Amino acid sequence: MSGNDVKTITRTILPGSTIGILGGGQLGRMLANAGSAMGYRFVTLDPTEDGPMGQVSEQITAAYDDHGAALRLAERSDVITYEFENVDAEVAAMLMSESYVPQGSELLYTTQHRLREKAAITAAGVPVAPYREIASEEELRAGVASFGMPCVLKTAMGGYDGKGQWVIRSEEEIPEAYEMLSKAKTELVLEQFIAFDKEISVIAARSTNGEIKAFPPAENIHVENILHLSIVPARINEELQRKAEQLAVRIAESMNVVGLIAVELFVTKDGALFVNELAPRPHNSGHYTMEACRTSQFEQHIRAICGLPLGDTTLMSPVVMVNVLGQHVEPVVKRMAERDELADKLGVAPKLHLYGKKDAVFKRKMGHINVLASTIDAALKWIEETTIWKV
Ligand code: AMP
Repeated sequence: MSGNDVKTITRTILPGSTIGILGGGQLGRMLANAGSAMGYRFVTLDPTEDGPMGQVSEQITAAYDDHGAALRLAERSDVITYEFENVDAEVAAMLMSESYVPQGSELLYTTQHRLREKAAITAAGVPVAPYREIASEEELRAGVASFGMPCVLKTAMGGYDGKGQWVIRSEEEIPEAYEMLSKAKTELVLEQFIAFDKEISVIAARSTNGEIKAFPPAENIHVENILHLSIVPARINEELQRKAEQLAVRIAESMNVVGLIAVELFVTKDGALFVNELAPRPHNSGHYTMEACRTSQFEQHIRAICGLPLGDTTLMSPVVMVNVLGQHVEPVVKRMAERDELADKLGVAPKLHLYGKKDAVFKRKMGHINVLASTIDAALKWIEETTIWKV
């Protein structure tokens, strides 16, 4: 895969067509559920039999870098998309020549690597936290001296949910931080620590026709680096909400995004916005759209790659999305099987989504609940008073 895409000719992919998805996890499953309702068929390429998406669509069971299997996916699909960004470079290039991949490979190439991503965001005129590339322990020492502590050392590729990063709080940590992260065999990036007031995200979609729409920002609360809550509307003023949406639109435009782009941002006390990172796919912090917006992020992604007009992104109800991890499954399922008097009393509607994963491993994302309510406080109260998320 290279940074130069051959310009793809856009097509309109109508209902009845087959959409192929690289990856068959929960994002693929929710894309397939949304798209099936619109009349599309789905096929996934995924190494795990009977996974979240395979349960609701056809599946080719093979490794992601299996060229023969990717070719079969291409043969069966009218359009191909992906549900994770670490798509094998050669497979992406092959699919580009054998099939219709309206998202291209450049967006993947850029967002797979923090340095390339930050350069692209900066080129769009959007601020990121001050950063520099680190190629030696000496450079790290100099970087720490210039940014001050704490600061954050990250691997350029492969990190997720806080993995592949080290918050440096004292000079003594420098050799160990450098040694540990160097093992990843990728460039390292040092970032100034942003003393953020809030973390938010905006998901924007750009269609093959160039139309762009953003969803309302979500306020995200992480616990041990895993997303716990997305609160919408985000508890920031309206002007900042509009500004965050505009930044996401600017990024989508400047990077020629097709499909969804999730933009994670830090908000400081004085109202400055810095982009932390991007994801060119449906995002956990956009699951709230499923019941709370007129169009879900999944439907929007399908509309965007199929060349249909984008859907209305208006928020219909305040909502708090809470993730259901392995340790929450049992109490959640039990609660859903009974009349929920607390929900009735608070006037909230908890909508459960489970992904069909068999092993409820501790901290594994198994599902989520969109708690629809007339106020954010009522939704938060339900989450608090069920006591399910105390563990
Ligand atoms: P990331 O993998 O880049 O999304 O980072 C995971 C989490 O670490 C973020 O959601 C933040 O809470 C925190 N974090 C990452 N980079 C910074 C930074 N430059 N300043 C402050 N917090 C950060």
